[in-house]
Parts: sequence; structure tokens; C-alpha cells
Amino acid sequence: MGNSNRPKVGVSSCLLGHLVRYDGREKLHPAINLLSSQFELIALCPEVGVGLSVPRPPVQLVKLNRGLSALGVENREIDVTDLLKGYLQSQLHIISSLSGMILKTRSPSCGINTTPLFDLNGEESGYGSGLFAAGIQQQFPSLPLADEEMLEEQLQRDTFFQEVRHYHARNS
Ligand code: SF4
Repeated sequence: MGNSNRPKVGVSSCLLGHLVRYDGREKLHPAINLLSSQFELIALCPEVGVGLSVPRPPVQLVKLNRGLSALGVENREIDVTDLLKGYLQSQLHIISSLSGMILKTRSPSCGINTTPLFDLNGEESGYGSGLFAAGIQQQFPSLPLADEEMLEEQLQRDTFFQEVRHYHARNS
């Protein structure tokens, strides 16, 4: 993908076909070829980026008094909340160079308003953003964001591409 004057777009690594998911399965998105012809794609995986293994025990977002926490689905002793929040801080230099991001739906790290939230008993109680995505929404509120389902709908995809180009033109 190399250096170019194309706008840089961050992408959840699993959508690029990297084998980084908790279950080790492949999730290459069919729109990636279209994206890579127009943008320089930068792979980001919060969970592997903080040193978690592949495969690994799945985590989910749990509402606690102290806020949303990423706890193990089977083992609530697993708590990767601070690790995942720290990943954003460690990648600020990269994220500030981006003109957009495409993130995986429903993930406790990457989901944009699509991630199921649970209580401590495992009962679902609404939707929110994954910890990495939520941090981006807070720290980069004008950065264009999309998830892979938006890429599947042409109008939403074209709108996102246009937003990325405008953001790039304004900030370069
Ligand atoms: S959804 Fe995010 S954290 Fe999960 S495997 Fe994909 S890039 Fe990594």
C-alpha cells in the first residue's frame, strides 16, 4: 500500500483479511479492493495491538458503576478495559494522520454504536460503541467514521468516500 498522496484511511485489521479475530477466523471484506484503489489503508487491531493472542477468550462490554468494561464472556475475571483504552493513546500519532476510519461492527473494541452492552448477568441492555471506537469518537469528533455494513450500501459508501476526501483536503 506504500506512501502516496491518497488520503489515509484506518481499517479494522480483520476487515483486511488479517487473522486477528478472537476466534482466528478470516473476515476479509469484499469492498477492500475498491477502497485500496482510492485510499492508503492503514491496518489497526486494538486487541492484537495490546498483545492479546489469537485465538483468545471473547470479551463483551459490561455496564459497571465505574463505566463500560470489557470483560470475558465466560470468565468475568478477564478485564481488558484499561489495555484497550491504552491502545488508542498509543496510536494517537497514527490516528491523527488519518482522514477516515472503517471499523468492524458489533465488536467490543471497534463497533460504532452497534456493540451489544450487557449487565453482569449477561443480559443484553442496549447498544454502544466499542472502547477503541468510543475513544476515537470522543477525541476525533470530526473524523469520518464508517462500519463495514455502510460500505455495502452505495449511497452511504459514496457519502463516506466524499467525507474522507473533504477531510483530507481540509487537513493536508
Ligand atoms: S474487530 Fe477490531 S479488535 Fe476485533 S479483530 Fe477486528 S480489528 Fe481486531
